Amino acid sequence: MMTEPAALEIKPIGVIHSCFKEKFGIPRQPGLVAGARGSLELFSPYNDITMVSALETFSHIWIIFLFHGNEPGKWGRMVRPPRLGGNRRVGVFASRSGFRPNPVGISAVQLESIEQAKGTTFLHLKGIDLLDQTPVIDIKPYVPYSDRIMEAVDGYADQPEREKLSVSFTAEADAVCQTLEAVKHPALKRLIKEIVGNDPRPGYYALKKNESEFGMVLFDLNIRFQVTGHQAVIFAIEKKNDE
Ligand code: SAM
Repeated sequence: MMTEPAALEIKPIGVIHSCFKEKFGIPRQPGLVAGARGSLELFSPYNDITMVSALETFSHIWIIFLFHGNEPGKWGRMVRPPRLGGNRRVGVFASRSGFRPNPVGISAVQLESIEQAKGTTFLHLKGIDLLDQTPVIDIKPYVPYSDRIMEAVDGYADQPEREKLSVSFTAEADAVCQTLEAVKHPALKRLIKEIVGNDPRPGYYALKKNESEFGMVLFDLNIRFQVTGHQAVIFAIEKKNDE
């Protein structure tokens, strides 16, 4: 008879600093919003630079993390993936949902650079789908010869439609964006366009036609937009009150 292995103690090796301060608006997978940047700050004793020696030779890495923003234990045997419009169910293990028995996530992201600063080591990342303060439990290089499976069958999760919504800015929002780009957030407009263009609304919103205004938090900003059909208009970019 099989005996259960002893419980494993898993300690975070670091934490993600992300432009995404809330779950709403975060891309559904890495790479969908190329301009989504963040960094992984390594904790002592894993911040010894020797531990990432040669990692810079890889363009992409796997980040293995905990879905810390989800209520522990809140998972079901079946989930409704947004890719299926949020109204068809598949088994939790046939999904990439963050609500699962062990709340572990995997994301292959671009490694821009490795920096030693403030007495620790930072990995600068691009194309992330990670919430700010996400605990990271491991890093592995992305190895194309093995990880890129050309003949893989993609089940219900085929290539997502890019730029589902066409995005425009009101003159006022555009002006705020330009000012912010000059002083603090370079390429902000492009980032907002990419995020909103991917349609961050949960699938079931497609069915709830009466809701048209949405807000998301990006960096220290509240971004507000309105959706009509396939058109999204960014009408306000405001500094968050608590910043
Ligand atoms: N690429 C990962 C995977 O496949 O395991 C994550 C996929 S999951 C569908 C992506 C979503 O998880 C994001 O859109 C965001 O809403 C959510 N998310 C990201 N980081 C999170 C965190 N630390 N806690 C809870 N939810 C998170």
